[in-house]
Amino acid sequence: MSSSPEVVVVGGGPSGAAVAFWLAEVGHSVALIEKKEYPREKTCGDGLTPRAIHELRLMDFDFDVPELHRINGLRSYGAGSMLEMEWPDHPVYPKWGAIIRRADLDQQVAMLAEKQGVVIHQKATATPVVEDGRLAGVEISHNGDSAVLTPRVVVIADGAMSRFGRPLGVGRDRKAPYGLALRAYYSSPRADDDMMESLLDLQDEEGKNVPGYGWTFPLGGETVNIGVGLLSTSRRWKGLNTGQLLDTYLHNLPEHWAVDETSRLTDPVGGKLSMAFSGGPITGSNWVLVGDALGSTNPFTGEGIAYGYQTGRMAAATVHRALAADDLTMLRQYPEELEAEFGDYYRVGKVFVRAIGNPHIMRAFMTVGFKSKPLMEWTFRVMSNLMPPGDKNLTKQLYGAIETAVRMAPAGLGRDG
Ligand SMILES: Cc1cc2nc3c(=O)[nH]c(=O)nc-3n(C[C@H](O)[C@H](O)[C@H](O)COP(=O)(O)OP(=O)(O)OC[C@H]3O[C@@H](n4cnc5c(N)ncnc54)[C@H](O)[C@@H]3O)c2cc1C
Repeated sequence: MSSSPEVVVVGGGPSGAAVAFWLAEVGHSVALIEKKEYPREKTCGDGLTPRAIHELRLMDFDFDVPELHRINGLRSYGAGSMLEMEWPDHPVYPKWGAIIRRADLDQQVAMLAEKQGVVIHQKATATPVVEDGRLAGVEISHNGDSAVLTPRVVVIADGAMSRFGRPLGVGRDRKAPYGLALRAYYSSPRADDDMMESLLDLQDEEGKNVPGYGWTFPLGGETVNIGVGLLSTSRRWKGLNTGQLLDTYLHNLPEHWAVDETSRLTDPVGGKLSMAFSGGPITGSNWVLVGDALGSTNPFTGEGIAYGYQTGRMAAATVHRALAADDLTMLRQYPEELEAEFGDYYRVGKVFVRAIGNPHIMRAFMTVGFKSKPLMEWTFRVMSNLMPPGDKNLTKQLYGAIETAVRMAPAGLGRDG
């Protein structure tokens, strides 16, 4: 570990592996530091949308691995109804998604990065070496030994609880919404289903709606990933218990899954969803944030894998340009590029999650939505960010519609009364 690579990536999840892959692909020397050992578990729903499949295709991922189960669309329950929707047609994204355990997925993507020449240090923890407020190096601790690397650029990809950047002034926007989610694996005779399933009007044990959703994602074979995700935008948020919500969701699960408490294979585990670019600053003089460290999760759905890959790919392009020009001030272009790619969409998402924190709006949305399959298909397209390219007006119209709904709601913005 004595000679320093040009770039050190802290964290080997989707965002870290992707940024390392793309930087090595254009010839940079890259070290990726991962504190766990592959195959490493990550609490997740394990769901890949067509956007994630697209990113994996770009990295030449082998989709024929037996661990990957293909998914053709979403079966959605709400307001006492059910709708089945295929993934939408799109000129860029494929018409299929997948479910794959993160232990398998993340190891396989890290191996793709390694094949590009990335040097991976597993069971190694990175801490920043800060001098006069500037990132002067990265200390790597492994098996009781430590060494300091002095790369030209550091990419911070250490996930939703991101700690590495704190001494550099990185923090979270405390006003930004966030989510908490809990999942466990269960055995089910229906695990070969080719649809993922969601329940949009998640309820607590008293039958009151809470903002969030429940999911059942079949992994193929005999296992399904079942979980609940909850948003911080409800006034009752602090009193809610994800464990109880998961129990209630399980209790009301459609019979076709044939799942109950006795089918549980693992204990439920939870995690935080940092969304809508709530982390920042996004860049420093010689570092950038990617993935959950940046808060890149889609606020509409909590989907973060695709955005980890994409922000990783975008950061790699900017870091490459800055290194090639020997001008690290060019790293400042990265936030502008993120804004151009995601700015409008994530702003709409933030308004949306505040809106559904209000049970009146949530109920109205469910009742109207489930009466019309075209409307729900459009909502599915928007929420999974698979809108036709170039339709800027669509985002503006959507923003206007959600803002109007919020203004007209009896209990005011994003709050249940
Ligand atoms: C319950 C739950 C369900 C979810 N379901 C889905 C889903 O179905 N689909 C989806 O797309 N997204 C889902 N998400 C979101 C998704 O898991 C994240 O968005 C995604 O993992 C972000 O990738 P990342 O690489 O930024 O961070 P992570 O995957 O968290 O990777 C960060 C890595 O950094 C390492 N690390 C941290 N600190 C250090 C350090 N100091 N030194 C070295 N290594 C370090 C960690 O060990 C970890 O491996 C879910 C999240 C939760 C909590």
